[in-house]
Amino acid sequence: MADVHLNAFQNAQQQFDLAAEKLDLSSGMRRVLRVPQRELSVNFPVKMDNGDIQVFSGYRVQHNVSRGPAKGGIRFHPAVDLDEVRALAMWMTWKCALVNIPYGGAKGGVIVDPNSLSSPELERLTRRFATEISILVGAEKDIPAPDVGTNGQVMAWFMDTISMHRGYTVPAVITGKPVEVGGSLGRVEATGRGVSIVAREAARHLGIRLDQATVVVQGFGNVGSVTAELLHKMGCRVIAVSDVSGGYYNPKGLDIPAMSAYAKRNRSLAGYTAEGLEQVSNAELLELKCDILAPCALENQITEQNADRIRCKLLVEGANGPTTPSADDILYEKGIFVVPDILANAGGVTVSYFEWVQGLQEFFWTEEEINNKLERIMVHSFESVLDQALRHKVSMRMGGYMVAVARVAEATEIRGIYP
Ligand code: GLU
Repeated sequence: MADVHLNAFQNAQQQFDLAAEKLDLSSGMRRVLRVPQRELSVNFPVKMDNGDIQVFSGYRVQHNVSRGPAKGGIRFHPAVDLDEVRALAMWMTWKCALVNIPYGGAKGGVIVDPNSLSSPELERLTRRFATEISILVGAEKDIPAPDVGTNGQVMAWFMDTISMHRGYTVPAVITGKPVEVGGSLGRVEATGRGVSIVAREAARHLGIRLDQATVVVQGFGNVGSVTAELLHKMGCRVIAVSDVSGGYYNPKGLDIPAMSAYAKRNRSLAGYTAEGLEQVSNAELLELKCDILAPCALENQITEQNADRIRCKLLVEGANGPTTPSADDILYEKGIFVVPDILANAGGVTVSYFEWVQGLQEFFWTEEEINNKLERIMVHSFESVLDQALRHKVSMRMGGYMVAVARVAEATEIRGIYP
């Protein structure tokens, strides 16, 4: 399980340092890229339904904008802190560079359990947070999106708030909006679709047949549920999934469409029953023997503590930062093929980019066009990372970092240091 003592930002910096060393980056460039460019902390009041006034804390961090406007989601979660947001912002920079979309990296977060709020309270919190960070956001400078604990409705409130301030509607200020207000077809499924595409490519590379493969998915939110559904559709046997209510395991395979429908109706898998179903803990789930393991929840799930007991052949990181650098070394030694987060979950921000472009030009594409463009980008990015990893005899994470960090360093170099 998550080790709260692990600092995600230190992990992110360690991953960067390893890549910088491998790329032989200058010490000046290392100093620039290993810290975020801009950080905003806000404490803001929200009137609760009972008349009480509560104060919440939130952040917006822009790591780097050399390749374009800052891009990255907003997280509503009780465990949010500044270092977590810094790490997530840095990972966004590498992710956007890796799939070669014209963005820098950012992230935002509010320390809150959104499930403890009523819908009107969540709306007031979102609108006030949007207002507090409005000095940073804009279609041409910083474009938020959903992340853990936020969804299309939250994006719609955010877009509406910024639009009210401006006096006109600004769809391109945020992505992950409902299609009714300028969202893109295929955006909701995009991250899970990307995860399933790279899982398929990696399986092909490793000679794993999907129709004989077993799959375990940690997390059954937007990313995990779609990943499970699409791998199930590709013929895999999904034997275990989990969410906050625990893990659900059936070695014969789970009825994923039924579980997805249940989770959508009940907002979680709590209370789901089926014949042959065994309950496992989230920790046990990660250690189940399987071909493909997809952690699609939070960071720091696979650590020094449990890496040795991971028994998959292929690990596809739907979540951001699920594996710590020391766990990475153990997995590499064990010969587990890891498709790193900055590649595996890049489908979300890729379709966010399509949504932004469609919003700016006010011209919309079909779902088929979106999915085809996403497929091309994911397959091409997978191939470049694999090529880099094989050529330099390094892990896929290092291969991905080498491609991404080199692109950001080049852009920074070409632009020059102002003044
Ligand atoms: N929160 C998602 C991520 O971590 C999506 C970001 C975006 O679409 O801007 O990649």
